Amino acid sequence: MIQGCVSPKRAKICLLKFIFFGRYNQRVDTRSKEKRSRIMAAVHSKNTTTELLVRRFLWSHGIRYRIHPSYLPGKPDIIISRCKLVIFVHGCFWHGHENCSRGRPPKSRVRYWKSKVKANKKRDCLIEEKLKAEGWRQLVIWECQLRTQKSASIALPKVLDSILDMCPEIALKGANRP
Ligand SMILES: [Zn+2]
Repeated sequence: MIQGCVSPKRAKICLLKFIFFGRYNQRVDTRSKEKRSRIMAAVHSKNTTTELLVRRFLWSHGIRYRIHPSYLPGKPDIIISRCKLVIFVHGCFWHGHENCSRGRPPKSRVRYWKSKVKANKKRDCLIEEKLKAEGWRQLVIWECQLRTQKSASIALPKVLDSILDMCPEIALKGANRP
């Protein structure tokens, strides 16, 4: 029995609605504001799984780094001080990854989330400018690039290549390509 359907007539209407609009209804965000906020806050945190994945990969290839230094604008996720390089591991939603399915806002409070993401993107640009002004180079890794084992196995060696190309001096200190 479909929830909310009591009489046979109503059940029939509900069944038709379910058949025609069921797919549409599944897309509606059924979570409460509070629950959605908690979920989104958890996504928007430090030391995420994707960050740890990148850190473990770099460490296993001899790259030594620091994490979240408070003295740098935006407290980058990973920094390699030796070659003045910062690495951000961006969540697609929070940082507004364009043309990415994971960058879409939830189905509820669309305007609220859109303005939040817009503000985050603006802040990211300011951080990038500040870092650049201080002589730091920047690499961005998107969460979607590391979503599956297969995509990560393509993305991570590319990141390592970029790092070693940008800072050949760390290759001499023991870093190696996969
Ligand atoms: Zn993405």
